[in-house]
Amino acid sequence: MAGRLFAAPESVALECAAGRVLADEIRADRDFPALARSVRDGFAVRAQDLPGTLRIIGEVRAGDRFEGTVAAGEAVEIMTGAPVPSGADAVVMVEHVTRGADGSVTTDRAAGPGQFINPQGCEARAGESLLSPGKRLGFADVALLAAVGKNAVAVCPKPRVALLATGDEIVRVNETPREHQIRNSNAYSLAAQVTRAGGVPVILPVARDRYEDTLGLVERGLEADLLLISGGVSAGKYDIVERVLADLGAEFFFDRVLIQPGQPLVFGRAHNRFFFGLPGNPVSTMVTFELFARAALELLGGQFCSDLPFLLARLTRDFRHKTGLTRFLPATLAWSGPEPQLTPVAWSGSGDVPALTRANAFLVADADRAEWKAGHLMPVLLK
Ligand code: AMP
Ligand code: MG
Repeated sequence: MAGRLFAAPESVALECAAGRVLADEIRADRDFPALARSVRDGFAVRAQDLPGTLRIIGEVRAGDRFEGTVAAGEAVEIMTGAPVPSGADAVVMVEHVTRGADGSVTTDRAAGPGQFINPQGCEARAGESLLSPGKRLGFADVALLAAVGKNAVAVCPKPRVALLATGDEIVRVNETPREHQIRNSNAYSLAAQVTRAGGVPVILPVARDRYEDTLGLVERGLEADLLLISGGVSAGKYDIVERVLADLGAEFFFDRVLIQPGQPLVFGRAHNRFFFGLPGNPVSTMVTFELFARAALELLGGQFCSDLPFLLARLTRDFRHKTGLTRFLPATLAWSGPEPQLTPVAWSGSGDVPALTRANAFLVADADRAEWKAGHLMPVLLK
């Protein structure tokens, strides 16, 4: 992993920077704003002259400057974004004045100094640090990069994530499965999740539940920055992934988690690469990726932190479960009222992908609690 963390940054054009992880510190190249600016259309005045009638001595628009000075009893017509002329210390909104035929303007309102003015440097000072390395860039960050003149940005390389599905029953998506076979959906759900988390998925051929076949493909997968294996980590006779990894000298950090879906879950390191052995049932694969593998991928991708945000929502009906495991179950969140409303989605277990497509969230049922009533708050993980 160390090799990965210190991999040389790459440069991308600003329009391709969203979603990438910043590799450099970004500082303000000047004060923001560089001059005091008006935040309203109106008149630049001396606050102490108000209320009263003032003589209009000129105008200033965005992109221009007023060269003179506003003296006692004078006003300069000013547009939003224009620099405030010297001498003026407040702006009166155009809606709050009446113009006289003689080139004067009258307002019956008082104003404090600074009204409707953004002072020079109020957003950032020249040289101030604005963005830190390790931040995944969103649209506001891109706007800031543009504002400080970066048309190319140094970003962390995207981690390459090898995806290895295992199982004698798995066939390719373009094959017609026989009744006892199923198509390989895990490689594709994982590829989608990896892409969303900022990685580059590399789908490997399906490993058959035979030692040599699995060994060869696991070794190949360990050449990537991160290896995600699906299936073959339960206690069945043909679940050989852990044995293969052990024989490759793997160090195991854990091989079980007290959650459902997803109890068998292997995390370790081999050949100086991290790997996850995710349970093969499709919903388990997806949930364990979100809960565990996504964080590893984001950190490998140079992010300085990885969040797992939970929110609280009100149950629309009673909910019960068996204590002992924390459950992450398909649910819908509806945003119709003032509070999000949470409804469990009927499903038939961790193979039920159709049910998961009808959900937009996972409700989180605490391992220590057996029941919740309609109207109770429950934690939710967005899908
Ligand atoms: P396993 O963890 O290997 O015991 O797999 C559990 C179940 O998950 C299997 O019986 C399959 O039904 C399903 N499964 C395993 N791998 C995949 C895959 N790549 N795509 C879709 N379903 C899978
Ligand atoms: Mg299997």
